[in-house]
Amino acid sequence: MSVNHIREPLLEVGWYRDNSSQSVYADWDFLIMINISTKIIIKRKEEIAMMKEELEKIREEAIEKISSSDALEKLNEIRVFYLGKKGKLKDVMKGMKDVAPEERPKVGELVNKTQKAIEEKLEETKKNLEKIALEKKLESEVIDVTLPAKKSKIGHRHPNTIALEEVERIFVGMGYEVVDGPEIEYDYYNFEALNIPDNHPAKDEQDTFYITDKILLRTQTSSVQVHEMEKGKLPIRMISPGRVFRSDEVDATHSPSFHQIEGLVIDKNVTFADLKGTLAQFARELFGEDTKVKFRPHHFPFTEPSAEVDVTCFKCHGKGCRMCKGSGWIEILGCGMVHPHVLEMSGIDPNEYKGFAFGVGLERIALLKYEIDDMRLLYENDIRFLKQF
Ligand SMILES: [Zn+2]
Repeated sequence: MSVNHIREPLLEVGWYRDNSSQSVYADWDFLIMINISTKIIIKRKEEIAMMKEELEKIREEAIEKISSSDALEKLNEIRVFYLGKKGKLKDVMKGMKDVAPEERPKVGELVNKTQKAIEEKLEETKKNLEKIALEKKLESEVIDVTLPAKKSKIGHRHPNTIALEEVERIFVGMGYEVVDGPEIEYDYYNFEALNIPDNHPAKDEQDTFYITDKILLRTQTSSVQVHEMEKGKLPIRMISPGRVFRSDEVDATHSPSFHQIEGLVIDKNVTFADLKGTLAQFARELFGEDTKVKFRPHHFPFTEPSAEVDVTCFKCHGKGCRMCKGSGWIEILGCGMVHPHVLEMSGIDPNEYKGFAFGVGLERIALLKYEIDDMRLLYENDIRFLKQF
């Protein structure tokens, strides 16, 4: 429709202009309307182009940001920024009210496509980042399931300790006290007070380690008994277990350091029968109910009379075997009635009080009880050996 074509009939109206004035105005109105609507259409077309351009820009920008993300948290920020309730895509959709109704589906489709493209990229990147995170985690937590598990090693009581606890249990059961004493001792308590003066040959048998002329490492725990007697509290019923020392070379039956358990009873009317009864009960509890004891006369400087005690072999019950070297008996300890001179030296009246004493090697008990044929095994602390008991 052209303007000239509309104007021609107007010019032809001539002097009848008045009559046609109404229609002329009407035609101008129409012309204005046409012009306005053309402008609106142009404006709408530009608007749609701009929206398309805007959406394209948003899509490119979002995808670039997503691609350069290196953490899952960042992806969430991007999602909110573009697709959230107040996100960029919602801003664009607000402009839809200016779009002609017939154009809206096209723009709507474009918005949907943009949203879908961003969502797809987000999902793809999320999966990638999760995969990388998992790989990193697996790499830092490498577990070789074929390796054997670490076992906690549990310690084990030493055969000496087991034997000592057993001996202590037996004597405590008979009313004895367990008394401890010093390992470094005066010569007097270790020898002299036990009736072993300087020139006594027994001193050679118990050669030890001297710290000075008068101070040494004790050769027997009998020294503890002297300390107890000196306290003057009677009666006495005690055992003194502990470490003792001798200047011996190490072999299958000797060690420069070993353990003794010595016992002492001092009371009125104590006889050798009490000694025999006590040791027989001890042997039965330690080696078995049918164990018999045999007392052989012997000599110790600090007891009179003195004896060595044998028990029936607990392996062959007296028939003879490798353990008892065919004799049926095994020597386990030395004992005797406390020498009156020893009582006197410690301030006890031998006419009023009597006593008996005994001494047993702890290692000897352990070796016998557990049939160990070399004492050195007890000191090697080999867990494979120790855990057998
Ligand atoms: Zn035997």
